[in-house]
Amino acid sequence: MKALNRLADIAAVCTDAVLQTTGELAKKGRRQAELLRLEHRLSRAQRQLGALVYALRKNNAQNEALVERYVEAIGALERQLEAARGGEHSASVCEDAAYCPQCGATVDEDALFCPSCGGRL
Ligand SMILES: [Zn+2]
Repeated sequence: MKALNRLADIAAVCTDAVLQTTGELAKKGRRQAELLRLEHRLSRAQRQLGALVYALRKNNAQNEALVERYVEAIGALERQLEAARGGEHSASVCEDAAYCPQCGATVDEDALFCPSCGGRL
């Protein structure tokens, strides 16, 4: 009977460990989902700002107020992302990192021009 009790104890400990791991995974999953959601919103805002600036330039028009609102919204999203990442760089960012051949600045892998020196990538 003693052995059976020990077995039950071990089973209880294992179940606890599994539950804990599951909880951590769920937490990690939620954090990942939140990061993805923010990254998606950020890239969408950046794309919209790009399209807006292009349309304005093409039509020789100006709308500083709207551009400013986009810049502010993008800045807010970047801060939210940084906070959600907890300061550390996410793996996806590190994998996507590329460098400008002209000045060596870190640039987006799909960027056309270096944001630092303006060189073509
Ligand atoms: Zn550069």
